Amino acid sequence: MEETPWLVLKFGGSSVATTDRWRSISRIVMERAQNANVVVVCSALKGISDMLESLPEAALGGQHKAILHAIRVQHHALAEDLGVDVTEGIDSLCEDLDRLCLGASLVGEFGPRLRARVMSAGELLSTRIGAGFLRHVGIDCAWLDARECLISEGDTGDDWRDFLSARMRDGESPDLQQKLHKKGHRVYLTQGFIGRNPSGQTVLLGRGGSDVSAALFAAALRAHRCEIYSDVPGMYTANPQRVPSARLLRQLDYEEAQELASMGAKVLHPRALAPLQKANIPLRLGATQSPQHQGTDILQETRFRGRVKSVSAKRGITLVRMDSIGMWQQVGFLADAFACFKRHGLSIDLVSTSETNVTVSLDPTANTLDPSRLQPLIRELSAFCHAEIVSPCATVSLVGRDIRTILHELAPVLSAFEERRVHLLTQAASDLNLSFVVDEEEADRLVAKLHGLLFGSQSQDDLLGKTWQESFEKAPKDSETSAPEWWRIRRPELLSLSKEAGEALYVYDRNTLEAQASKLLKLQSLDRVFYAMKANPHPGILQTFEGMGLNFECVSPGEIQHLQGLFPDLSPQRILFTPNFAPREEYAWAIEQGVHLTIDSLYPLEHWPDLFKGVPVVLRMDPGRGRGHHKHVRTAGSRSKFGIASGSLERVIAAVSAAGAEVVGLHAHSG
Ligand code: ASP
Ligand code: MG
Repeated sequence: MEETPWLVLKFGGSSVATTDRWRSISRIVMERAQNANVVVVCSALKGISDMLESLPEAALGGQHKAILHAIRVQHHALAEDLGVDVTEGIDSLCEDLDRLCLGASLVGEFGPRLRARVMSAGELLSTRIGAGFLRHVGIDCAWLDARECLISEGDTGDDWRDFLSARMRDGESPDLQQKLHKKGHRVYLTQGFIGRNPSGQTVLLGRGGSDVSAALFAAALRAHRCEIYSDVPGMYTANPQRVPSARLLRQLDYEEAQELASMGAKVLHPRALAPLQKANIPLRLGATQSPQHQGTDILQETRFRGRVKSVSAKRGITLVRMDSIGMWQQVGFLADAFACFKRHGLSIDLVSTSETNVTVSLDPTANTLDPSRLQPLIRELSAFCHAEIVSPCATVSLVGRDIRTILHELAPVLSAFEERRVHLLTQAASDLNLSFVVDEEEADRLVAKLHGLLFGSQSQDDLLGKTWQESFEKAPKDSETSAPEWWRIRRPELLSLSKEAGEALYVYDRNTLEAQASKLLKLQSLDRVFYAMKANPHPGILQTFEGMGLNFECVSPGEIQHLQGLFPDLSPQRILFTPNFAPREEYAWAIEQGVHLTIDSLYPLEHWPDLFKGVPVVLRMDPGRGRGHHKHVRTAGSRSKFGIASGSLERVIAAVSAAGAEVVGLHAHSG
């Protein structure tokens, strides 16, 4: 007879915190238990682990009672809501906590051992309630103490790590299989995050470690599958919190998923994948509230190679740049440099080297990056190179297997980096990611832009699921966005207008235009304010600004004529004409109109000097550095098409005086 397979289901902190979610959990468990034996692994209620983490410090100051009270009340409330009576269990765990706190406050010390015991209470509490509820709805469920099942590697001599972020034994466990067989229940409910060491003391698997527990249970039982549920259905082509058009990824291989998890996709603990991969157990990510929606399946191999799967950013990165002229062909430079990092206990993430520079990145999740750690390092490195810290930075990565094979397709995408300073660029040897370290403030914009270029025109297929927006259709609440008041108030009316029109509308709010313009008009350092008509030549907008006394900047005769048509009496002195690469006739025509004129290159002055005799002109000079959203509109700099290079000053003076023009102003635009 074939054995009944095992399934491991894990539910995160927000899934176990409310009655609604527990009802979902019970439905999922019931369904899965029809064809499998099930182990359910639970986190602590959302927020509880944080409260427990703050208990020791509070206890040392004699301040822990209030926190304990809040913890007790929250669990009682949930239990009552779910209709289960576990009052005694909750109270006795809270009394244990109280005793631990008192004891520690008397001794004046709260070591890692005690901290582990305190924090384990979160999962012990949540699972008492959960097991009670599953039984209450008729499931044959037994509460299981994870500390009888998951055992750590033991003593490494580092108490903090051994107790609070322990390495656990992994692999199949016939013992556990037998033990559960003997007990003979269909469903077991147990704690994530906790286990024991070989001497039987409680240890933790590190913050967020319940995912790891689930993976270890799955491996120990040789489960058919491990399923991890949270409030997010899976991994996305970008962080959906920041890029709502991100699409769900239906399939990833273990290594891609590992890459995404390590890149900071918060749905999965990075340490959860190794035990599953070793045992070749597929992992499914899903959302507790909508288990029917497809999530992300993670398996040994997918058929989607050579595609970028995701764009991610990791913030808080610190770079160390090491420059040395003598590095080339010098034996041992890297060894010496890296030895310094080792001595200072700093773990290096990315590395790039050239003949004269080595740059490395330090990841905040692996390092404590305060100045007291970094300054001594820099001092030591300075003995043999010029060392410098660049921070805060962010790593922006394109993730996917075999990206190398599609580098040529990525060329247009990489144009998104134009004008951004890329401090470091690496392609992982595993060919799973292409990473760029940039200034932290650039990260959001770059991710959104890269994501748009890579996925903006893609629709659902075998790999890509729904966008975050489509799945949740939760138009962001106005309070969550920066939506201005006028939009909040008038939205229904405007949306119905758009419906009537049968198309999208651009909406401008006149009050806002006026308020912004009058702020500029109030600036005492400005004589005149010009509105750049190319921003929007709509008559309503132009009338608003004309009425307020703003002037207008035009880049073509067409714009000037548009103004003249709207305002026949407008004085030409209220118009500034700033053409770029205009033909002779346009200059001639504008001069005839009597508008102000900007000349932005030497060409007109040198070739048509007769036009400018006695004409007042403004010269646009190139300040040397500029910006633009792509290279053809870069506002300044040696490769810009705008402005006269400051190096040409002599020629300008000669051309101006030869033409007999009168320079009345200078124009500069750095972007
Ligand atoms: N409750 C633990 C924490 O918040 C473990 C987990 O939820 O994964 O870190
Ligand atoms: Mg988690």
